[in-house]
Amino acid sequence: MPFADRLNNVETSAIRELFKLLGKPGIISFAGGFPDSAMFDVEGIKEAVNAALAQDPGAALQYGATEGYNPLREQLAAFMAGKGVKDLAPEGLIVTTGSQQALDLIGKTLIGPGDKVIVEAPTFLATIQCFRLYGADVISAPIDANGVQTDVLEKLIAEHKPKFVYLIPTFGNPSGTLLGLERRKKVLELAIKYQTLIVEDDPYGDLYFNEAPPPSILALSSQVPGSRDWLAHCGTMSKVLSPGLRVGWMVAPPELLAKATMCKQFSDAHTSTFAQATAAQYLKAGRMPATLAHVRKVYAERAQAMGNALRKDLGDAIEFVQPQGGLFVWARLTGAGGKVKDGNELARRAIEKGVAFVPGAPFYANNPDLSTLRLSFATADVAKIEEGIGRLGQAI
Ligand code: PMP
Repeated sequence: MPFADRLNNVETSAIRELFKLLGKPGIISFAGGFPDSAMFDVEGIKEAVNAALAQDPGAALQYGATEGYNPLREQLAAFMAGKGVKDLAPEGLIVTTGSQQALDLIGKTLIGPGDKVIVEAPTFLATIQCFRLYGADVISAPIDANGVQTDVLEKLIAEHKPKFVYLIPTFGNPSGTLLGLERRKKVLELAIKYQTLIVEDDPYGDLYFNEAPPPSILALSSQVPGSRDWLAHCGTMSKVLSPGLRVGWMVAPPELLAKATMCKQFSDAHTSTFAQATAAQYLKAGRMPATLAHVRKVYAERAQAMGNALRKDLGDAIEFVQPQGGLFVWARLTGAGGKVKDGNELARRAIEKGVAFVPGAPFYANNPDLSTLRLSFATADVAKIEEGIGRLGQAI
């Protein structure tokens, strides 16, 4: 088939190959990036579906505006206000088909072949692939325990003059890292100083365990005059409510929002009005706080159980920072005592022992650290986590 040249820039991910093995009976999987389906608020969503059909069936079942269903945009603006984004009008956001589409629209509207974009090392694999599909030269900025190193980031921006910088500042996928408050402010200063768009992807910010994380970069932008002109923010219903709904949103400067809306129109016309009306009713019914409290509690227990089991069963063969939110433990194999140090090798051995995780290498746009791995604690209960990490201990 005479495929477009742009497909030469991307490969099927190694992770997809690994996922094929997950069908093996009895495998305990820490590989997915999914929330736990057992935690979906099915009753609440049923009520929201019924309310959507009862109150606004014409809208819920009809074609809709590309920007999104207005009652949902209003609910989302109010939801964001509850998270410290006080000055967001409903017209300041568009609804997207998951935040993945928002990232795709950012790529589509801004990246041409050879354009540079900066991402964290490591970062969300699908984003690297998506940006490369549009021909991006993806440059990596290093992170440490406090998120992206803003001094290095500044040098990279000055050198490469990227189209934009893509960050997951809060419990990043895969690193679980939290960007510190001072660095968040610094990012906004860099945006203005270098007139560079910052893309804040925030699917996990609501999933904190004990303390709330610092305000999002979007929330902080109201303290830095002019910074909102250089900031896009992607949110999603996927990690707390339901990824199957495919409801996300994007906040961006009006010009970018207009271009993204135009591109979305050619792509899917609009996000499912049925899903949007459902999400709007769910938010309107005020169920979100209780749902959030529940998922935070369950994931916190699982994160703790995984951390404890890793310390007990893998000891000095592994090092990691205990996550304070999100869905992942990001770990590094130390090779202590001559134990396996390569994440791919351990993944193969682990499958044989009946446990799966994702090796960390594909999450790097450049120079992968082969000793890394990502373990999701989201979908297995505490007993399964203990059993699975025990198997990982045997594999290592
Ligand atoms: N960004 C990040 C960092 C993610 O981890 C994910 C989901 N794995 C997404 C975006 C996309 O999520 P969705 O399209 O379901 O909103």
